[in-house]
Amino acid sequence: MKTTVKSLEGSRQNIIIDGRFVKPNSGQYIPSYDPTTGESWYELAEADSSDVDAAVGAARAAFRNPAWRRMTQTDRGKLMRRLADLVLEHADELALIETRDNGKLIKEMRAQMRAMPDSYIYFAGMADKLQGETIPVNKLDMMNFNLREPIGVVGMITPWNSPLMLLTGTLAPCLAIGNTVVIKPSEHATASTLALAELIAEAGFPAGVVNVVTGTGRSAGEALTRHRDISKIVFTGSTDTGRRIAGNAAANLVPCQMELGGKSPHVIFSDVDIDHAVNGVVAGVFAAAGQTCVAGSRCFVEASVYDRFIEALVARTNRIKVGHPMADDTDIGPLALAAQVSKVESYVSSGVKEGARIAAGGKRPPAEDLARGWYFEPTVMIEAQNDMGFMRDELFGPVVGVMPFVSEEEMITLANDTRYGLASGIWTQNIDRAMRFANRIDAGTVWINTYRSAAYMSANGGFKESGYGRRGGFEVMREFSRLKNVVIDYSGTMQDPFVIRLR
Ligand code: NDP
Repeated sequence: MKTTVKSLEGSRQNIIIDGRFVKPNSGQYIPSYDPTTGESWYELAEADSSDVDAAVGAARAAFRNPAWRRMTQTDRGKLMRRLADLVLEHADELALIETRDNGKLIKEMRAQMRAMPDSYIYFAGMADKLQGETIPVNKLDMMNFNLREPIGVVGMITPWNSPLMLLTGTLAPCLAIGNTVVIKPSEHATASTLALAELIAEAGFPAGVVNVVTGTGRSAGEALTRHRDISKIVFTGSTDTGRRIAGNAAANLVPCQMELGGKSPHVIFSDVDIDHAVNGVVAGVFAAAGQTCVAGSRCFVEASVYDRFIEALVARTNRIKVGHPMADDTDIGPLALAAQVSKVESYVSSGVKEGARIAAGGKRPPAEDLARGWYFEPTVMIEAQNDMGFMRDELFGPVVGVMPFVSEEEMITLANDTRYGLASGIWTQNIDRAMRFANRIDAGTVWINTYRSAAYMSANGGFKESGYGRRGGFEVMREFSRLKNVVIDYSGTMQDPFVIRLR
């Protein structure tokens, strides 16, 4: 893998079309910033619609190329296992690149990158298990069956918060099925996708199976979602951008898979160990500095333990160390974008005007060594109400709003009072209550006595404005394959079509 933090430093990166690094037709490059200093550290190509057209053309040609189209499922699985080995071999370098690009903790990124090969291995194992089915029909001497086949060229638009992990959730099944792909990574964290594309080529995937167009959402992203020769669009990001992309794709009748924002409820009942529940809430909302779509950012606590819970949560939050993402003792690093810090700051201050109170954090950290970076303290807002701005909108930052509830009925009403429906969590020792919550909550994922415990073996995705489509497990194999019905008449005769015979 030639792309490393060292080689990226001060460099200009090109796009990848048909297995080759090529310059963008515009000749334009844009900076990628280091979130710990706010300074540019490399430049990425600004692809335009002509580059996107070339990338989709290459992906379409690769889709038809017998080297890929007629490769057996078993051999595709083998290629993916080879890719898994290469990802493992380069996991620490990939982690360094992501940390440098988006400011997430190196220890978290290392763990994520070292675990990622398992995902490729899991889907490699599915390459030869995507079976069709036979259908009993009410006619003799007929065979009626469904085939599952790849859908074609998939356009993937990925975000900056966990670029490779989120990409892998859809790229691995897509490749296992035999699709080809054009990826548009976020301009804020592009480099790791270029590095992965290199490993894909090294593993032996034919040229054009995976192409990468870089640049802004406005230019490259928009062109990809408007392209007529795309078979499906996969998007992870904000609800507003998702809505726009779905509109572009709909004009060409292209289906989408959307993983969008969240404002997930995290519920605490009085019958649990408060310290465990506090750990769950902290892990749910402050991990990755709150930049996860499933962040449990609205916390509802049974009134009888509300004060005790707040005291423990504030004490735990005040012990969280904000610092440089490369330091081993850092718990929370910077946010990935300057705009994210301003967004979080503005929601916190308007929350105070709306009547909430800051019980911990609430500002940029005062430490001099963090002054140039895009840091924000982990923040607990109490006396929150569901109609306050920071409780309604996705902040994508380290902020949790807490409010008490008295009855189970009140809790479920509050928890469902959101336009989102991505994830949810409940802490209780009462299994009946936990199951009632699981049944009634409008969320694609329900965690009971845990939070943010994701697995690529289970299907996840959103309800309501959190999107549609599922990732993970066998479900995702259906999402990226298409069903074809085949009918065979083996009677050896064909009746005159105009002679109607009634039974
Ligand atoms: P966006 O949803 O705008 O960006 C996500 C991806 O979409 C990026 O690759 C972006 O490219 C691309 N994109 C942007 N506009 C278009 C477009 N018109 N057509 C095609 N692609 C486009 O999120 P932001 O980065 O602006 O972050 C804003 C908010 O989105 C965050 O505060 C957070 O609430 C939410 N978000 C949610 C994520 C999740 O995992 N659910 C992930 C990231 C953000 P580029 O970055 O190059 O502009």
